[in-house]
Amino acid sequence: MDVPLVMAGAGHSHLVAMRCWAEQGVRAPEGSVLISPGTHAWYSGMMPGLLAGRFHVEQCAIDLRPLADSVGLRMVYGDISAMNADRQKLVLSNKHTLAYQLLSINTGSEPPAPKNDGSVPLEPAKPFANFFQRWQLWRQEPPGEIVVLGGGPAAFELVLALQWKLPTTGFRLICAEELLSGQPVALQQAAAALMREREIECLPDTAISNIRDGQLWSGGKVVAHPDAVVLATGAAPLPWYACSALATDNRGFLRVNACLQSVNHPQVFISGDACSHNGSQRSGVYAVRQGPTLAHNVMAFLNDRPLRQYQPQTRTLALLATADGGALLSYGKHSISTTVMRPLLGFWKDRLDQGFIHRHERK
Ligand SMILES: Cc1cc2nc3c(=O)[nH]c(=O)nc-3n(C[C@H](O)[C@H](O)[C@H](O)COP(=O)(O)OP(=O)(O)OC[C@H]3O[C@@H](n4cnc5c(N)ncnc54)[C@H](O)[C@@H]3O)c2cc1C
Repeated sequence: MDVPLVMAGAGHSHLVAMRCWAEQGVRAPEGSVLISPGTHAWYSGMMPGLLAGRFHVEQCAIDLRPLADSVGLRMVYGDISAMNADRQKLVLSNKHTLAYQLLSINTGSEPPAPKNDGSVPLEPAKPFANFFQRWQLWRQEPPGEIVVLGGGPAAFELVLALQWKLPTTGFRLICAEELLSGQPVALQQAAAALMREREIECLPDTAISNIRDGQLWSGGKVVAHPDAVVLATGAAPLPWYACSALATDNRGFLRVNACLQSVNHPQVFISGDACSHNGSQRSGVYAVRQGPTLAHNVMAFLNDRPLRQYQPQTRTLALLATADGGALLSYGKHSISTTVMRPLLGFWKDRLDQGFIHRHERK
C-alpha cells in the first residue's frame, strides 16, 4: 500500500517542519514515515565545536524517534539509493521499496571530490557521523599532514578545529578561490591572520584538478602530498537525484517552484541543499528558514488547501567558530572580527546553536 507521506532525510528543514507540526498539534496521516540512515540528526553548526572538543556528541545531535513520534511519523532507518518519481517509488540501499503518495526530500548534498586515483584517503566532511569516526582515529594516531580542501566558512572552521586538537599534525587549507570568497574584506583579512597565527598554511586560488600517486595537482604543478585530504568543498547533488525523473538544474540539484515543489512532480517537495530554488543559497540557515513554509505546504497539499510561497532572506548572519570558543561575524557587507569581540560572538553562537538543539529535542 502507498505510504501517504514520506519524509526523506532528517535535514535541517525537516527538523524545523516536524517541530512546527508538534507545536501546532498537527499529526501526519496514519502510516507516514521519516527515512533516516541514522538514529540522530547531526547539527552542522556545532560540528567544528565538537571536533575542537568543546561539545560532546549528545549536545550536537538530535534523537529523531521522539520528534518523529510526536507528529505521528514512524522511523524507517535506511539510505535512499534510487527513486522513480514517475512511478512514485523510492528504493533503499537494502533493496526495500517504498511507494508514496506525497514525498518531501531533505537529504542534503555531499562535498564534490577532485579526480583521484585513490592514493590519498579522501575524507568528506559529510556525512558527519562518518567524519567523526575518522576524526577519533586521527586523535589516536595523528597523521603527519592533512590538507583541507575548500575555502568557505565550513572549510575555515574545520581546519581551525582539526588543528586545535591535533597540534603535531601539519595543516594546509587549499582554496580554489580566495579564502572566504564573497565575505567582507575585513573578515577575510582577520581569517587569514588567524590562520597564520595558528601556523596553518593557506593556498588561495589553487583549484586541485587531480590527485594521483599521493600528490595533489593544480595547473600542472604538484602542490601537496599529504597523508589525508578533508573535503569541505561545498555542495554536490547526491548521485540518485540524477536518475530520479525529477527536473534538475545544470548542476544536478532538484528544481523547485516558489512553494518548494518539484517543477515537474507536484507531489514531491524538496528543501535544503538538495533543491535548486531561485534566491536560496546552500547553507543550513536557508534550509532552516524553509522549514516553516515546508511544514505549511505539506499539510496544505494533503488537505487540498492553498500553498504558500517561500521568501528567501536577502542577507544572512554568519558566525564562524575559531575553535577556541570565539567567533567572527559577517552580515551582508558588515563584519566584526576584533580580538576583543571574538569571545562574545563565540558565546552568542553557542547560545544560538544550543537553542536550536533544545527546540528540536523531545523526550
Ligand atoms: C563542517 C560544516 C559546518 C557547517 N556549518 C554551517 C553553519 O554554521 N551554518 C550554516 O548555515 N551552514 C553550515 N554548513 C552547511 C550546512 O551543513 C548545509 O548547508 C545544511 O546541512 C544543509 O541542510 P539540509 O537540510 O539540506 O540537509 P542536511 O542537514 O545536510 O541533512 C541531510 C539529512 O539527510 C540524510 N541523508 C543523506 N543521504 C540520505 C539518503 N540517501 N537517504 C536518506 N537520508 C539521507 C542525512 O543523514 C541527513 O540527516 C556547514 C557544513 C559543514 C560541512
